Amino acid sequence: MILIDGKKVAGDIKKDLQREVARWQEQGFRPPNLVAVLLGDDPASLAYVRNKERQAKKIGFNSSLIRLASSTPEEKLLHLIQSLNNDKTVDGYIIQLPLPAHINPHNIIEAIDPDKDVDGFHPLNLGRLLIGMPSFIPATPYGIIELLKRYRIPTDGKNILIIGRSLIVGRPLSILLSQKRPEGNATVTLAHSHTKNLIDYTRQADIIVTALGKPYFLKADMVKNGVVIIDAGINEIPDPGQHRGYKLVGDVDFEQVSKKASYMTPVPGGVGPMTIAMLLKNTFKAYKNHLKLA
Ligand code: NDP
Repeated sequence: MILIDGKKVAGDIKKDLQREVARWQEQGFRPPNLVAVLLGDDPASLAYVRNKERQAKKIGFNSSLIRLASSTPEEKLLHLIQSLNNDKTVDGYIIQLPLPAHINPHNIIEAIDPDKDVDGFHPLNLGRLLIGMPSFIPATPYGIIELLKRYRIPTDGKNILIIGRSLIVGRPLSILLSQKRPEGNATVTLAHSHTKNLIDYTRQADIIVTALGKPYFLKADMVKNGVVIIDAGINEIPDPGQHRGYKLVGDVDFEQVSKKASYMTPVPGGVGPMTIAMLLKNTFKAYKNHLKLA
């Protein structure tokens, strides 16, 4: 089994970006600027956005985090979005999801300037993705496509099963992998919680992407020999041996499934690091577009 080292690939992508940023700055341009907006103080979300901010700064971006109370009214968030849209020094920004229940996420996503939508969730970007036009590709599917490409794992004509149909992972990935393009041309099945007899699909799949958020869900008896496993799940399970009291595991029973797989991503160190690297790549793309327009 070949371990797909997302941490290494993400590191390579960030090094390339760092070199590019330095090159643009040598030519007298300002650094790229990524802003994150977080409502509330959920520790996992805070750790996640802080990590994005830290990694952006490490490669020479400007980056900042705007924190708002979880009780912030939708109107106020929409105002902030307008000011980020109008701010010429901001290349890209993300509104960390999930949002508190009183805020309609569709109103928020639609208000984001599609040219600064580095998460790729605006309907214009998702529409462009659907018809195969250049767009900001949501970072996790983008990272998965990049891993398949760098490890030269063919998708053409393969049966690919994606478990989980969320807008941030499974649904855009299903579109990308089924498109007529080098990292596509697959026959894609998109499974979800209403899928009947999932095992019939898992056993036939050449490549399985799990994005459902259920620890150790995919077991060895559910997959065929030689399967490629891309595990996007990130789940916390109690572990008194760790100083923080928990550890992170994927949606796949790594120990058992790795005995049958040909390629496999670990958790942590697989898809997770790629997500941030691709967000930074999207931000750099937005930056170059903005400089060209300036
Ligand atoms: P969501 O809760 O939005 O979606 C989960 C999906 O899994 C849904 O489509 C749901 O079906 C489906 N599902 C749930 N249970 C089952 C089941 N028993 N059988 C088949 N399908 C099922 O989750 P997210 O997409 O936000 O996240 C999924 C996982 O990916 C999480 O562990 C999350 O932490 C991780 N993640 C990792 C990222 C990374 O960078 N690596 C980035 C984003 C997420 P239905 O639609 O019917 O409810």
